[in-house]
Amino acid sequence: MKHEPVRPEVPRCSVCAVPAVTFQRQSGRHLCSTHATADICDRVAITIQEVAMIVPGDRVAVALSGGKDSTALLMLLSRLIPSWEGVSLVAITIDEGIAGYRDETVRSAENLIRSLGVEHHCISFVDLFGAPLDEFLRGREKEACSICGILRKKALIVGADRAGATKLATGHNLDDEAQSVLMNVLRGDLSRLVRNSGTDSSGRFIPRIKPLKKISEKEIATYLLLNNAWTDLPECPYSRYALRREVRSLLSTLEYRHPGTMLHLLESKKKIETYCAGTITPEPIRHCRVCGDPCSGELCQLCQLKRSLGR
Ligand SMILES: [Zn+2]
Ligand SMILES: [Zn+2]
Repeated sequence: MKHEPVRPEVPRCSVCAVPAVTFQRQSGRHLCSTHATADICDRVAITIQEVAMIVPGDRVAVALSGGKDSTALLMLLSRLIPSWEGVSLVAITIDEGIAGYRDETVRSAENLIRSLGVEHHCISFVDLFGAPLDEFLRGREKEACSICGILRKKALIVGADRAGATKLATGHNLDDEAQSVLMNVLRGDLSRLVRNSGTDSSGRFIPRIKPLKKISEKEIATYLLLNNAWTDLPECPYSRYALRREVRSLLSTLEYRHPGTMLHLLESKKKIETYCAGTITPEPIRHCRVCGDPCSGELCQLCQLKRSLGR
């Protein structure tokens, strides 16, 4: 007697019952391609709307590196924004000048821009600071991420300003945000933990928004795969020097064993902010005596960096 082969049960989408392509560990739902994409899009819209990150009259500049996060961010915003009245979208790409890494990601950014038809502005460290990042970092590779961060921040502000933007959107995801919370806790840096990087009371800097802050790195990868936008891009060659790497690997293990861990870290930060409201005196805003940008000391971070590099 012949037995029929036993077919493994294919999980079905919890919404529409077609074969599922992904499993959300935290909610316990299986989702098909359509509903996985729609779920991410809806959650990004909720993240934006619950704190009015984007309001009518806004011109949103997306910091488009060409990497996975900013690619997903631009794709999602270019789906959402056309239905919001009086809001427009523009993309800004910074070419830091990292040999063998940036050329590929800048090309990927340009391809995406062509397919989405979004206005695009490019700005390079060479134009802005007179040298590529590689030159700034010679002999200081261990400080790569903080030096690059200071220069990028300035370049993005200049780029957003040139594009006439009112908000600057970055691709920071849930993993990035949870890592930052844990790193600040590990360093005992409470004031940094509760400082809202998105606001600037002086009003001189453009407000920054992070629409993907509740979407995990894994979900972003899934979104790109399901929407034929996955490209295997090189990782930044300087990232091996960062402490963040260790925190990242620790958190991804915890998230796998205890789904929801990263969201809980974000919630903890929010609660601590509420408890601390009014108890931490913000450092008074002063102005850099070289360039006039708002800062906490005599010199802004950029002018301090330039001085330490003898520029
Ligand atoms: Zn479905
Ligand atoms: Zn300065």
